[in-house]
Amino acid sequence: MTQPDRNLELFQRAAGVIPGGVNSPVRAFKAVGGTPRFISRAQGAYMWDANGQRYVDYIGSWGPMILGHGHPEVVEAVQKSLHEGFSFGAPTEREIELAEAILKLMPSMDMVRLVSSGTEAAMTAIRLARGATGRSKLIKFEGCYHGHADALLVKAGSGLATFGNPTSAGVPPEVVQHTLVLEYNNVAQLEEAFALHGKELACLMIEPIAGNMNFVRASVPFMRRARELCTEHGALLVLDEVMTGFRVALGGAQSVYAKQIPGFAPDMTVMGKVIGGGMPLAAFGAKRAVMEHLAPLGTVYQAGTLSGNPVATACGLATLRLISQPGFYDALAAKTRALTHGLLAAAQAAGVPFNVDSEGGMFGFFLMSDLPQNYATVMQTDSKRFNHFFHSMLDAGVYFAPALYEAGFVSAAHGDADIAHTVDAAKSIFASM
Ligand SMILES: *Cc1c(COP(=O)(O)O)cnc(C)c1O
Repeated sequence: MTQPDRNLELFQRAAGVIPGGVNSPVRAFKAVGGTPRFISRAQGAYMWDANGQRYVDYIGSWGPMILGHGHPEVVEAVQKSLHEGFSFGAPTEREIELAEAILKLMPSMDMVRLVSSGTEAAMTAIRLARGATGRSKLIKFEGCYHGHADALLVKAGSGLATFGNPTSAGVPPEVVQHTLVLEYNNVAQLEEAFALHGKELACLMIEPIAGNMNFVRASVPFMRRARELCTEHGALLVLDEVMTGFRVALGGAQSVYAKQIPGFAPDMTVMGKVIGGGMPLAAFGAKRAVMEHLAPLGTVYQAGTLSGNPVATACGLATLRLISQPGFYDALAAKTRALTHGLLAAAQAAGVPFNVDSEGGMFGFFLMSDLPQNYATVMQTDSKRFNHFFHSMLDAGVYFAPALYEAGFVSAAHGDADIAHTVDAAKSIFASM
């Protein structure tokens, strides 16, 4: 007698009351097919679904769970804050503490403002860049995701002189008429765009290591040129570190590039995910002169009922405290490399075209021999093969992202045995491919 599939039951029930059965599209498994796993609980490196099946979790809520699920010190900080009150709509000392903690780790900023989602942070960063420069145009890159603010839901237009087309219904073309979408890692195109539009550009927004087209690094020459061109033309360089911040290194991806580009720093940084430790919390920050354009000091409006929420800030602070301990990122990066090297060796042994890259606790793997440099190349992945690999791993109790264009995440709670189990499972799947 087979057990009823609780995941399927829940998915069907959810589909009646929530569009597509999910509250964020990628959760629906549309890219890979099959039934999404409804998660009932998580602890450490594991999640359990509604059937009681356990998974080694390489999503970590898409990045925030860098300590693993339910770290006792984080749980304690959250519990303590709950007894002090859920939300006040008035300032608290904890908001200052979190702001100070962030600024200490990312010295490119003098001030930050806390918000509740990465979308909100990126949307406001654009408004602030426009308000601070008095310009309207912006550059983004194909394959980079900055949340779902209207002006950022854009794909490339037909040429450099033209601006983008909306990627979502409900976004009027007029709303994206100032957004220029360029190819990631294409220096020549970047130079051409600045030559054409430099004087009208408020900002260039980029994921320094793109985690929304799997895992693609901005090349050092590309990042250097982006910095130079922004400075030359008076546009703000905005790094979207919602995913990479406190994930690839304690100082974010900007600290990784600063090691290779002397004096490198962005003009503005957008953060989220890890700084909330799994709670709704995000932020954006810049130098004082830029941030002072924000209300109530300046004329750029921004606000939030739940901004700087006392429970979320308690969770974020406890998380930042733990990841700031010496050696944390070396250990995390070593675990991540053990995983990626293991997967690579397993694929090579089976003769399956494969490549991997990682930084800190973030990684990407590709069912192709070369590491892609842009979105178009990432999307050349054989999706049938990826979906087969994904579902076979899932059946073996390993939960990778359910789409070939998403990055993966390792947490401090992942142990050698978890990684060995993952690599073993991959070995037998590669052998059958
Ligand atoms: C997740 C993400 C966002 C959006 O954050 P939300 O909290 O989901 O709104 C923005 N930018 C990047 C780079 C992200 O990875």
